[in-house]
Amino acid sequence: MYLPYCAEKCCLFLMGCLSGLRARASATMSFVRRRARARENAPQHNGSCMKHTLADVVEIDLRTEPLRPAAAELRALYQQEGQDTRRQATRQGMWIAITVYLLFSITDILLVPDVARYTVAARFTISLIAFVLLEMQVRRNASADAIDSLCAAGLVAAYAGWLYPSLMTADTQSISYYMVFGSIFMMSVNLFFSFQFRLSLVASIVILLIFLAALQSFPPVDASYKLAFGTFCISCFVFTSYVNWKLNRERYKVFLNAFEAKVQHNEASERGKALLRLSNTDPLTGLENRRAIDQRLRDHWDDWQKFGKGFATILIDVDFFKIYNDCYGHQEGDRCLILVANALEESIQPYKGSIGRYGGEEFIVLAPLDTREQVAELAETVCRTVENMALLHQQRRDGVSIVTVSVGASFTRNQTGAKLEKVIHEADRALYSAKANGRNCVRLFDPNDPQSSDESENIAALLKIATDQNLVSLVYQPIRNVSSGRVEAVEALMRLKMLDGTSVPPGLFIPIAERTGAILNLGYWAIRTVCHELLMDNHVRVVSVNVSPIQLKTPGFAASVAAILGETGVAGGRLAFEITEGLEMEMNSHILRCISDLKTLGIRIWLDDFGTGFAGLSWLRLIDFDTVKIDRSFLHDSNTPRGKAMLQDIIGLVRNRGHKILVEGVETDEQLALMREFRIDQVQGFHVGRPAPAQNFLVDPTPDTHTARLRRPA
Ligand code: C2E
Ligand code: MG
Ligand code: MG
Repeated sequence: MYLPYCAEKCCLFLMGCLSGLRARASATMSFVRRRARARENAPQHNGSCMKHTLADVVEIDLRTEPLRPAAAELRALYQQEGQDTRRQATRQGMWIAITVYLLFSITDILLVPDVARYTVAARFTISLIAFVLLEMQVRRNASADAIDSLCAAGLVAAYAGWLYPSLMTADTQSISYYMVFGSIFMMSVNLFFSFQFRLSLVASIVILLIFLAALQSFPPVDASYKLAFGTFCISCFVFTSYVNWKLNRERYKVFLNAFEAKVQHNEASERGKALLRLSNTDPLTGLENRRAIDQRLRDHWDDWQKFGKGFATILIDVDFFKIYNDCYGHQEGDRCLILVANALEESIQPYKGSIGRYGGEEFIVLAPLDTREQVAELAETVCRTVENMALLHQQRRDGVSIVTVSVGASFTRNQTGAKLEKVIHEADRALYSAKANGRNCVRLFDPNDPQSSDESENIAALLKIATDQNLVSLVYQPIRNVSSGRVEAVEALMRLKMLDGTSVPPGLFIPIAERTGAILNLGYWAIRTVCHELLMDNHVRVVSVNVSPIQLKTPGFAASVAAILGETGVAGGRLAFEITEGLEMEMNSHILRCISDLKTLGIRIWLDDFGTGFAGLSWLRLIDFDTVKIDRSFLHDSNTPRGKAMLQDIIGLVRNRGHKILVEGVETDEQLALMREFRIDQVQGFHVGRPAPAQNFLVDPTPDTHTARLRRPA
């Protein structure tokens, strides 16, 4: 009675396991199939002959039904995966198994009391040995496979160790029922533990063989018992082994899915990182781009605000880079920027700074430095690094024939109203000053410099509204013919007053206007005003207007001037534009084209302040100036024989090139006499006429009056 009941329960249990497994397997498989279909539909970029990656093998393994033998690499990974978890699971399983095994001593005492002392002794001995060996293995950090093998051997030994003394009992009926418990050992190796299929198979075969051997050597029962019981045990072996096989496949598939998910996750995060890198990197130089460096700047700023950690901001501009590009081509230009970027990156390493490309030929360095001296040292290092590279740049017009950089630096300092933007702004000012000082040099922001002061901020703001609010005006300084004494032209000079009426000297506001770009509108305003005030009604024959190279560089400048001439009806020949060799003195092709367009309009081009800049001589070569204005400093130095000789030489040089000569800054009778002696064409200066408003030049326009006579200002 008891045997069929036990067998039925066991079979029901196994069937339950199987159907549960089948449901899980089919859910997994449909998921796998869905993914496989998605993959098949996805475009194949890599070509079919490409070598399979591990991820591809996973995909193949998941798609193959029935599952083919796993790739060795994958199998090794599977073995390796979760070693610790497997070790712990087997160990805990073994503890439970040992406890249950020992508890069965009670059933031994109840069912086979005559041999119980042997079976119980066997149970305790085997349990102790198994436990000690297990703990030793765990402590030695043995592999999960080794621990599994030990446990499987322990289970087989436990079965044999219990069965052998039990069979000696005199109570044959009890033992004939009790023997069914042998199936529990088979279930343990196949289902309770998570052994690999091969290990479970071997262990359960051994258990089956032990059982069959025991059945054979168990004479008191009849053949039908042996047949029924033997069949039960074989079925139990087949079922549990099959379930074990299924479980193992299932575990492997779960591993594959998890592995694939991990691969995809890694790929996605790698892609994310690559994208982030890309979005923060300048594609040409590989340095951080403006976006990334702006973020760094914010971080430095936060550190400064919260913890008082000072930092330096250094702007670096490659000198005459546009000319370099024009001369050597854009590819060489790119190469030059890459070389400079690499050298700069290396040079700032000792200062733990970071570098980025801030604009076309502009780089920025941020470094955690505290003192002005440290900042100056780093800025100087940067500047000298590029100079020492000695990259050829033979087309520069300042006598230097290698690539150099101008460097402007600012650094954090305690001040009221500190703002992040101000840091860059101050570095920018310093850079501007470095360029103005002849380039290839370093300038540190100086808060006491008038160009750097808050006042210059106010002026910059004022310049934006200057024309609308009538804050700008023009005064005119006569230019006289030396022999006739007649006013042949006047020079328009801009004046600016503040809202409270205080006047701002041009030496202060013109550079600010150039730096901020306000000079463009002011320049158009000046040309238009000149036309309206003096030229439209023929009060003066020619008016010269100072034009900044920034204006000449602006696309469409000549066309806008033409439009002003058109709207005022003034002939181009009545205007002269004075160009000074200043900061933006790169005479590039745009400027030359613009000058040529202006000449086509009839406008004369004069070279102002000749002798003060770097490029005057080369400009003389490039441009056919109508008049060259010799800077007043040469005249003022002419009271010494050396100075006089110098002035004479300059006059000779200009005259030989066929330009008209105008000398500025005539302040005395002696100077005027000297001009006569040197047969100078025209003069300008306080002695021959101070700048005055337009009203002082208003004369009745008569057909023969082309020379306005100066009404001396009161
Ligand atoms: P600049 O073009 O060389 O103008 C001549 C400057 O010399 C004027 O100064 C004038 O007042 C001054 N000056 C004239 N005669 C004498 C003299 O005998 N002795 C001395 N010591 N100085 C004399 P100002 O008006 O202060 O202008 C300074 C500079 O500002 C100008 O130099 C010019 O470069 C610039 N500027 C003035 N107006 C404009 C403008 O409308 N546009 C541009 N881009 N620049 C302008
Ligand atoms: Mg001038
Ligand atoms: Mg001048």
